[in-house]
Amino acid sequence: VRRSYWGWGYEDKALSERDVEPLARLAHAAFGASPVLAPIPPLEAYDVPAPSFSLPRTLERIATRDPAELVRHSCGASLKDVLRKLTTAIPRPPDYVLYPEAESEIEAALEFAHSHRVAVVPYGGGSSVVGGVDTDGEWRSAYSGVLSIDISRMARLVELDEWSLAARFQAGVLGPAIEEQLRPYGLTLRHFPQSFECSSLGGWVATRSGGHYATQATHIDDLVESVRVLAPSGILETRRLPASGAGPDPNRSILGSEGTLGIITEAWVRVQRRPAARARAEVSFKDFLAGAKALKELVQAGFRPANCRVIDDVEAALNGVPSRGALMFLSFESPEPVVDRLLDSALELLAANGGDPKHEGQRGGGSFAHYRESFMRAPYVRDAIVRLGLVTETFETAVTWDRLDHLVHAVKDKVPKAIREATGKDGLVAARITHAYPDGAAPYFTVVAAGGTTLSDNVTIWEQVKQAASETVISHGATITHHHAVGRDHVPWFVREQPPLWHRTLGSLKSLYDPGRILNPGVLGL
Ligand SMILES: Cc1cc2nc3c(=O)[nH]c(=O)nc-3n(C[C@H](O)[C@H](O)[C@H](O)COP(=O)(O)OP(=O)(O)OC[C@H]3O[C@@H](n4cnc5c(N)ncnc54)[C@H](O)[C@@H]3O)c2cc1C
Repeated sequence: VRRSYWGWGYEDKALSERDVEPLARLAHAAFGASPVLAPIPPLEAYDVPAPSFSLPRTLERIATRDPAELVRHSCGASLKDVLRKLTTAIPRPPDYVLYPEAESEIEAALEFAHSHRVAVVPYGGGSSVVGGVDTDGEWRSAYSGVLSIDISRMARLVELDEWSLAARFQAGVLGPAIEEQLRPYGLTLRHFPQSFECSSLGGWVATRSGGHYATQATHIDDLVESVRVLAPSGILETRRLPASGAGPDPNRSILGSEGTLGIITEAWVRVQRRPAARARAEVSFKDFLAGAKALKELVQAGFRPANCRVIDDVEAALNGVPSRGALMFLSFESPEPVVDRLLDSALELLAANGGDPKHEGQRGGGSFAHYRESFMRAPYVRDAIVRLGLVTETFETAVTWDRLDHLVHAVKDKVPKAIREATGKDGLVAARITHAYPDGAAPYFTVVAAGGTTLSDNVTIWEQVKQAASETVISHGATITHHHAVGRDHVPWFVREQPPLWHRTLGSLKSLYDPGRILNPGVLGL
């Protein structure tokens, strides 16, 4: 099955004209969207210039200039990226995509790139939504060319320590292949970002990804025991330890480095036995902030549900879930019979905080499964909506509880205004809380708005809306990203939220690891 060169995932899973009919009718009625899908450009329509340098024979063996590969590797998977691919206005593609199968090939590629001033873009699953794998930009003219190094062929479970519950994987492994290789041992990594199908362990570590479990190990950070990284100036391999107080943690220099310091080739990750039992319920609240307040009480009381997602009425409607007010999807995983007792006491607490609970399977309690299914299909549906000419994209953040209400009110005020200014029409801004901590939460917003006359206009429309969203988030004490990463697109806000001395520290690390500054120029503002 072939990866799509223009959109999310695999070609054969893209929605067809027939699949999309009901959605198209809705989009047309609500926003005057096109009733038919925009065509997918044939590969001949893209401008793919001849390479600006040649490769030594050792690297030629692992290189491709297949047009579908060059187009796919020119950028990631955000709305902007899909629009650029659908309109053929892609960033200049890399000169070559390399598919190494061994560390020695990555070392050879880094050496060649360093000595020939070629920029290198590390590539895992290519699901970046922040310009993290773009192969063009103002920086490109300072280099003699660009290599995209795709490590997805390095995808093996190398070693398993069942005694300590830890596994060593090559970093190019995609989500499903991690779980497939652990399943025979009754184990799971239990890290499920929405992009799970097409994102890699190395990409997760590089971007500090967030899985869909709402509490405890929310980020990959918590699951990484040690990493192995090839940098232009040498190899960094950290020691396997369950914990350590020995100075600043070297793993932390790599978590979130977004391909600017080196290429992660392996990681030891903490795995766990597959959960024995699950119990689920859904709880209604009068509105989103009432649900959020009850969630705060729940986590501050010490409950750590596997999931406790609060969605507002707009998010419910977008996913075809009936709701009056807001809904919380609540689930626990643990050995039986603890799980049922936990769920019952959590529901008691939520009922005392304005919630109206229903166990899964009770009347009206089947929305959890429906929402989960809709969540998994969302990336393919997103692509169809984009091809119908609408603007749809998400933004996410995290903030302490004391500022959550202000932030949500501000987003619900400023972003719809920005949509109206950019499109002349009203749009939708849906809210959910994806992760909850004792001291705060991660709110996540989905925008759906009318598009312009052409698909190209929609890039500008989204940039205008996103600008307003990012300003609102930053000026309300929240972070520019809880888990989508910084890439190139978030740099202006990332720099504002970092202490200046820390940003200079990152600059020093960059000079040490990558003195020729060949790795991912511009990402993290480095
Ligand atoms: C539909 C959709 C849903 C998403 N849902 C989530 C979600 O639930 N949670 C979440 O956290 N994110 C989500 N994302 C964002 C994205 O999936 C994550 O950032 C993910 O961690 C990227 O992994 P990847 O393997 O695709 O990395 P890529 O997109 O290939 O790369 C991302 C960045 O990491 C660098 N990089 C990649 N591999 C390596 C390596 N081996 N060594 C060094 N640097 C490397 C790249 O250069 C780039 O800067 C979503 C994206 C999409 C399109």
